[in-house]
Amino acid sequence: MAIASKGSNRKRATNRVEDVRVLRVGHRPGRDPRLTTHVALTARALGARRLYLHPADPAIAERLAAVRERWGGEFEVEGIQDYRTLLRTWPGTIVHLTMYGLPLDRVIRRIRRDRPVLVVVGGAKVPSALYQMASFNVAVGHEPHSEVAALALTLDRLMGVPGPGPRSGARQWIRPRAHGKSLAERKDAP
Ligand code: SAM
Repeated sequence: MAIASKGSNRKRATNRVEDVRVLRVGHRPGRDPRLTTHVALTARALGARRLYLHPADPAIAERLAAVRERWGGEFEVEGIQDYRTLLRTWPGTIVHLTMYGLPLDRVIRRIRRDRPVLVVVGGAKVPSALYQMASFNVAVGHEPHSEVAALALTLDRLMGVPGPGPRSGARQWIRPRAHGKSLAERKDAP
């Protein structure tokens, strides 16, 4: 199914996957809040439905809840203590992003077949179990870079980049402009 919305590249994403979720393993509460916040913001902005965060970190969940309050949508952060059970019981495809894996563009068609898709990103240290439990170990280029970049490119291949306009329940959204900034606000917003 091809989804097209004005100003987005979703038409390009033929056979778009509707339900994509992200698991972030190896978060260090209090140590790298910015990086995990960026993983969460990227997952949300590019259309993932949920971020499972291991270990749980209420500060990140609250930050993303505040973003949702203003910008709308359904995205949530769910802290989990046991990511192995999530992986063992996942009903669709598990994609573990690692520079050691197969090239993204070589496996993307097979990844799309079995849904929902869970995209897993690691932190400073990646448990070896992830390599065994994944349906696919996937590289976005075979050089080390960032979980945020790897996630963004993978979500683009799976769903395309959303176009402009308000999400459900949004209090504000952007009106694209060639120059300057334009922010629309819902009239009855408190
Ligand atoms: N030292 C870790 C290891 O042993 O793999 C990698 C740390 S890297 C900063 C953090 C995460 O970014 C990785 O777990 C992976 O999910 C993602 N990542 C980094 N480079 C990648 C690449 N070339 N392809 C896919 N994912 C990548």
